[in-house]
Amino acid sequence: MNTRSLFRVCNKLIGPSIACTPCRHVGTYKTVKRPDPSTLKMPAPGTAPKLMEIIKEKIRLKGPLSVAEYMHIVITNPTEGYYMKKETIGESGDFITSPEISQLFGEIVGIWFYAETQKMGMGPGRPLQIVELGPGKGTLMSDVLRVLHRLGYKPKDLSIHLVEISDTMQTVQAHQLCASHKGCDVDSPHYCEGETTSGIKVYWYYDLKKVPCNFSWYIAHEFFDVLPIHKFEKTEEGWRELLIDIDENEKLYYRISAKETNNVNNLIRPPLDGGDRTELEAFHKHKVVNPLETPGASDLTADVDFSQLRVAASMTPGDENYALVVGPVTQRDFLRRTQAEARLKVLIDHAKSDEQKETLQAAYEMLIDPEKMGERFKFMAFYPSAMAAILEKYPPIGFSNLEKETK
Ligand code: SAH
Repeated sequence: MNTRSLFRVCNKLIGPSIACTPCRHVGTYKTVKRPDPSTLKMPAPGTAPKLMEIIKEKIRLKGPLSVAEYMHIVITNPTEGYYMKKETIGESGDFITSPEISQLFGEIVGIWFYAETQKMGMGPGRPLQIVELGPGKGTLMSDVLRVLHRLGYKPKDLSIHLVEISDTMQTVQAHQLCASHKGCDVDSPHYCEGETTSGIKVYWYYDLKKVPCNFSWYIAHEFFDVLPIHKFEKTEEGWRELLIDIDENEKLYYRISAKETNNVNNLIRPPLDGGDRTELEAFHKHKVVNPLETPGASDLTADVDFSQLRVAASMTPGDENYALVVGPVTQRDFLRRTQAEARLKVLIDHAKSDEQKETLQAAYEMLIDPEKMGERFKFMAFYPSAMAAILEKYPPIGFSNLEKETK
């Protein structure tokens, strides 16, 4: 069967009875609760925590910090780091992400992976690892698992591998996904393990390199933007790195490195160094508060430059094992092409009250509205280069115009 038709069949197949929390209401219809989009909050400035002192002390001891070092401290410091505190994501936190807004999001992601895997002849019955980087509250994974259960995956064939740096977020994920979980000893590649109510094993890692190398799906949602970045500027003397230092008023400020830093030599190389660009950053900063004023109190993210990500992952001279990259496409285009609206209709048809119907509709609008999350958020997919011929025959779903291609 053509994979697009397969996708449509899956979307229908998971129909009314899918929208139940895994294994708790099997066979009954239940809309998964999501917050009311009209009450969602954006990041708000906080008060300067002790983290500022930690950062200044570091600068006094070893000199100016790279933007990457600064981000690393702010995001991951064990006591004051942003993601070490409770409830950063969601209705009561600082920001909200697409899977927290609508169950549709994770369900479509699950069906998409399923359909793409069929192209390789690796469907249910074969062992599958699902790896997620920065799983937040575990909501996306829980929506994906619910879909896979309906599409015929058996718990014994599945294992979940979560790369999560924050112990606080790990606990939140364990409560969302597992019936039981426990910490592991230091010799183990994973630091915690658990099991879902249906018996799927779940493992947590601090480092992606520790995840077993088996056939896997990789999911990274709102993850690249929290990774530490370096900032560079092209001066008359060549590329220089932007550093963070302390000024005479004891405030943090950006300055350009006097000489080439090691990072300039290691990170700026072809093809990233091509063209006439005078400013290079894997990502652009994009904040409502000054990121140097309240470290740890508010979220510190970068706007991912997806085209650079594409360049970095695609074939570079001499590379044998490169990735085939599709996208970026906007969240709006991806969801519309993957028939999220048809899924929305099923959910609305089975909603118990008008209020529930309105919430479902409003959540969907929030995901696709160009003024809200529709154009700001992007989708990209990376395939192993060995799939080139298959993708030529069955192009990736959601990344090109469905209407045109099915004519
Ligand atoms: N994917 C989720 C959450 C995104 S927030 C969603 O869409 O809702 C970023 C997540 O990445 C958080 O869980 C945070 O604790 C985690 N994180 C941040 N830096 C990390 C790193 N270097 N390695 C692994 N996880 C990280």
